[in-house]
Amino acid sequence: MAASLVIDNLWKKFGDVTAVGGVDLTVNEGEFFAMLGPSGSGKTTVLRMIAGFEKPDSGSIIIQGKDVSQIPPFERDVNTVFQDYALFPHMNVIENVEYGLKVKGVAKAECKDRAQAALNSVALTGFDMRKPSQLSGGQRQRVALARALVNRPKILLLDEPLGALDLKLRHQMQVELKEIQRSVGITFIFVTHDQEEALTMADRIAIFNEGKIVQMGTAREIYDQPNSAFVAAFVGVSNLIHNQMSEKILGKSGVFSIRPEKIFLSNQGAAKDCNRKIRAKVVATTFLGSATRIDIEVGADRLSLIQPNIEEILPNLGQEIEISWDSKYEFQIIEK
Ligand code: ATP
Repeated sequence: MAASLVIDNLWKKFGDVTAVGGVDLTVNEGEFFAMLGPSGSGKTTVLRMIAGFEKPDSGSIIIQGKDVSQIPPFERDVNTVFQDYALFPHMNVIENVEYGLKVKGVAKAECKDRAQAALNSVALTGFDMRKPSQLSGGQRQRVALARALVNRPKILLLDEPLGALDLKLRHQMQVELKEIQRSVGITFIFVTHDQEEALTMADRIAIFNEGKIVQMGTAREIYDQPNSAFVAAFVGVSNLIHNQMSEKILGKSGVFSIRPEKIFLSNQGAAKDCNRKIRAKVVATTFLGSATRIDIEVGADRLSLIQPNIEEILPNLGQEIEISWDSKYEFQIIEK
């Protein structure tokens, strides 16, 4: 697969703060790629350097084989969708979408055709004459997307694209954004601190911490095989079994992670084939709507399991229960 973007040993400092400390990254053509990490981990700075809004201290950024590290934003084949969408309030939808093309001097008829095609691709046909204030949050988001897509960039950069939307709309747009990306076939690179958003939409995810990428892989790889306690805790519920307890209950030393949905109450059918069985005390139960999270204490460690709310046999707080899992789902955490 051809590389759309190659970043090599990228550094950026702001005064004493090392915002980006040696990032290497390759994104393939047509890939939906997420940069995920806690606040201040450097992901937005990397995005801004790809767009050209920030200059790297050192390292290179290569887009479609061309080193763009030192050239201005408008000469790069990328477009950015900002979190606040930055739509022009006095212009209607079609004028907003056409704007960039008009500035570039594209002929009037072509502007119209391309803007219409872009609006079609985000399912906003017929909204041409509306002003941004007459649209819902999700529709505004799609206008911003159309305005970027109309330029036919090689790479579309999205900064927290769904951050301004409420939860329900965010879920809906996660699916829509993925469909739009698939149908236009452009490389999408987005920044988020929301793990669910990254897991749902991205083909691959880079996890950032303190200016570095600490793990990169598919959603499945990151979730099932976190390479550090940091990633295990940041993506999903970490459920770590530390040395002391692992020797006692697993018969092996080291730190192990087991995901909550892989643990069952022993009286459930799913527990039948599990080869680990331990007794533990329930220290918290949390109703989550479709499921209940049960926290148990195993020596000095705390584990959570997710129990679907289909039966009324949930254990009580303080109750001693037996839980089961299959040892094949224990994943050893090796700190480098
Ligand atoms: P968030 O999710 O909060 O946006 P982030 O992971 O995108 O966080 P960055 O915005 O890239 O993180 O910031 C990385 C570090 O660089 C932070 O410590 C931040 O305070 C610092 N930083 C970013 N931009 C500037 C700037 N223009 N001047 C000074 N420091 C900056």
